[in-house]
Amino acid sequence: ADERLSDEALLADPVARIDAVGGSRHPGIALPRDLFAPERRNSEGIDLQDSDTLAAIAAEIGRHSLPPAPADLADPAAAVARARAAADDWSARPVEARAACLDRLADLLEEHRAELMAICVHEARKTIPDALAEVREAVDFCRYYADQARAHLQPVELPGPTGERNILRMEGRGVWVTIAPWNFPLAIFLGQTVAALVTGNAVVAKPAPQTPRIAARAVALAHQAGVPADVLILAAGGPDTGAALVADARVAGVAFTGSTATARRIARALLADDSRPLVPLIAETGGINAMIVDSTALAEQVVQDVVTSAFRSAGQRCSALRLLLLQDDIADHTIEMLKGAMNTLVIGDPADPATDVGPVIDAAAYDRLMAHRTAMAGRIVHSLAVPEAGHFVPPTIIRLDDIDDLQAEWFGPLLHVATWKAGTLEEVVARVNAKGFGLTMGLHSRIARAAETVEALARVGNLYVNRSMIGAIVGSQPFGGEGHSGTGPKAGGPHYLPRFCAERVTSTDT
Ligand code: GLU
Repeated sequence: ADERLSDEALLADPVARIDAVGGSRHPGIALPRDLFAPERRNSEGIDLQDSDTLAAIAAEIGRHSLPPAPADLADPAAAVARARAAADDWSARPVEARAACLDRLADLLEEHRAELMAICVHEARKTIPDALAEVREAVDFCRYYADQARAHLQPVELPGPTGERNILRMEGRGVWVTIAPWNFPLAIFLGQTVAALVTGNAVVAKPAPQTPRIAARAVALAHQAGVPADVLILAAGGPDTGAALVADARVAGVAFTGSTATARRIARALLADDSRPLVPLIAETGGINAMIVDSTALAEQVVQDVVTSAFRSAGQRCSALRLLLLQDDIADHTIEMLKGAMNTLVIGDPADPATDVGPVIDAAAYDRLMAHRTAMAGRIVHSLAVPEAGHFVPPTIIRLDDIDDLQAEWFGPLLHVATWKAGTLEEVVARVNAKGFGLTMGLHSRIARAAETVEALARVGNLYVNRSMIGAIVGSQPFGGEGHSGTGPKAGGPHYLPRFCAERVTSTDT
């Protein structure tokens, strides 16, 4: 089958080529027909590849209208006081009691899946497959942290070679403030929050101002699952609400996902007052995420993984590909194939089951991205037509002269491409590292040495080899970065929960 289509035919229409050979021309690599394969998650999914199922779920989503937004938190100080008063009792409960609340919450999220997906679609403008992945990731976080808590939060007896009895306890620190982004308004909102809860903390949980409804639903379900009302308090509101919460000296920790600039503001606020206790900040921010492709890579797989990494979720993921680095001798060919693949993307209303790429979150994001696109107009090599109304940013390829020409994160479907020369892989990785971010990196190569080199040199939290660079799976691909990308703790990983705890040791002479 390999020889049936020429390279010219492939260049003209890569998707036809994929169909014609039933996968890739390269033996052993099968490509799914859809460019955006269903996202892998641990919890049970729905088969959205099946058109009847997809139509049924779309109809169900259509029946749910957007609930009213919750009221903004009127008094942040009073919320912290309430949470503070409830925290000790919650912390004193057995780990099993708190873990059981998370498992019940996971069950409730699954029971309410269609409703939650509908809010994600209407409020966050997520596509149906992204909304499904969102609910499933939230479920995964609840079940994973429940299991982790049971396994690792029990008191342990440590060796006592000098005769003492030493007991290490992992306990709540008090009140955590969690501040969530709009791009994962359920999964990250809940992930941060349930991690703080299961470790014995009370939480004041602030959603992004764009997505308070899904957060309000999540908090209501958590209360239904057994988390007391004062142990988890929703703090809807804007930046002032967040600032007031973070400035409150009774707050014992902050978990934040969002921009690097906001993370810095939070860090400064936590240190502003010398009389305030020193408290942890867990921050997961952005990245200038690069994918390096050498001339041995499988072209069709590269194209599929680039399209998914750069354009799925309209590029609105921290993990998304921003800078594609092609070895120079395959650059033109790969870009031609990419254009063909991009042309098959359906851009439109996220509630329509056929849609691959929806709009960006709001007018401010649209204006920022379009201003950059306009500034780069002379460098655009491909761009898709989009609906006029509704904040649709055209998926776009922008060709740069040099790797260093991209120095900021553009949080949308704008893919920058630069080239590099054979024999300079180490330098390429060093130049990406030098941007100072360290979230995700991708490599496509069939040379094992190349993978070893990148693994040894890359300063990123998540390195993806010969696959897409989005969609980290809870429990398997702990997610989070370093440098300007965050303070390091990996969500969905085995070392996350201890970051929310006070570790206390009692040593008793026996
Ligand atoms: N965990 C998500 C992924 O791997 C990204 C999270 C984010 O955008 O903050 O795609």
